[in-house]
Amino acid sequence: MFENLSERLGGVFDRLTRQGALSEDDVKTALREVRVALLEADVSLPVARDFVKAVQDKATGQAVTKSVTPGQQVVKIVHDELVHVLAGDNEDPGALKIDNAPAPILMVGLQGSGKTTTTGKLAKRLKDRNGKRVLMASLDTNRPAAMEQLAILGTQIGVDTLPIVKGETAVQIAKRAKQQATFGGYDVYMLDTAGRLSIDEELMAQVEQVRDIVTPRETLLVVDGLTGQDAVTTAQNFDDRIGISGVVLTRMDGDGRGGAALSMRAVTGQPIKFVGLGEKMDALETFEPSRIAGRILGMGDIVALVEKAQETLEAEQAERMMKRFQKGQFNMNDLKGQLEQMVKMGGMEGMMGMMPGMQKMKKQIDAAGLDDKILRHQIALIDSMTKKERANPQLLQASRKKRVAKGAGLEVQELNRLLKQHRQMADMMKKMGKMGKKGMLRNLGG
Ligand code: GDP
Repeated sequence: MFENLSERLGGVFDRLTRQGALSEDDVKTALREVRVALLEADVSLPVARDFVKAVQDKATGQAVTKSVTPGQQVVKIVHDELVHVLAGDNEDPGALKIDNAPAPILMVGLQGSGKTTTTGKLAKRLKDRNGKRVLMASLDTNRPAAMEQLAILGTQIGVDTLPIVKGETAVQIAKRAKQQATFGGYDVYMLDTAGRLSIDEELMAQVEQVRDIVTPRETLLVVDGLTGQDAVTTAQNFDDRIGISGVVLTRMDGDGRGGAALSMRAVTGQPIKFVGLGEKMDALETFEPSRIAGRILGMGDIVALVEKAQETLEAEQAERMMKRFQKGQFNMNDLKGQLEQMVKMGGMEGMMGMMPGMQKMKKQIDAAGLDDKILRHQIALIDSMTKKERANPQLLQASRKKRVAKGAGLEVQELNRLLKQHRQMADMMKKMGKMGKKGMLRNLGG
């Protein structure tokens, strides 16, 4: 569902960016598309309407600054409003109601969403950061493996788990956990409920029973952030039936664009409290609305990237390159062409911001203090190669490497880095070439 929203916004803002001034009609047209996009993304009508209205009010009232384009300005306003909607009135997303010991936390969600992992992560966080004594219990009576998984996690992170007693029902386990937490002097007890592959009546009835026995202080729904539209349906179902107090979005280390967050916030009215960023036990962070908003808008806008590239590239050069890539050819001359484009398009910074999955790489580049200088160095290295070497970089072994580096007045190390980069890009181009241009856009955009 998110491709839709991002593509649309991307298209709209790109059009705005190209126009010198922003008329009231332009704003209206753009925002109409924003609204449609939001609706298509299953944001409820009132929320979409409020969203657009807020943006319109803010956009119309603002004088157009000279230093930014009107498009950029609208993007900023839309971004801020997204943050506002995502954050709600929830000042501190990571705050949990766990004051009265022992505080029960009910973990709910579908099987495979990362519920058990998140239970462990959260227990560890409560122990390490809040100094809480935590007890964890698995209620998944259908899957003994799930109970064992939690016990193993407990040992790993130094958090107690309720001893497993065979043959007990989920309700019996919940009662025992409550008792043990009370008499054992625990601050918090977490119940990892059973998951199913999809919502079913039996599951819901069971979770309801458990809820009524322990009266949870927090009922956290764990959802896979990569499942998009399904995540929203899941959230709605659980909220209607069980009543949730917050959401944990997992797998946000993947390519998900965070659209699920916006819709879920709108649909359930409940805050996203945490995001899971990996399989490790410390890969849990409090939800940051601005980050997700940036992801929704930043959205690896490969379409804009291509358009921009098309503007600056000589049309025939682009054509020639595309054909070569499709054949799986990508040599040093191609790389040089790309590097020159990058310099023209505002360097690494500008490029990386537009490419999906490049955020991490961008961070590394920033951290290493790299900039256009590196691009120019790389171009110099390629210039210092012979025609043959450019066509076939494999030729570059020890003595040739030294000569090329020396010719550019640089270290062999830098040349090695360039060669590695070339290999990676060649691999990528080959994959893209196989998909054709359309497939390439879809793949990178999705
Ligand atoms: P459950 O069936 O809902 O209890 O799911 P699990 O906790 O067993 O998780 C299923 C798989 O997802 C495991 O391999 C986890 O390591 C993985 N996983 C959980 N959370 C995350 C996350 O935030 N990022 C990534 N990359 N993997 C996760």
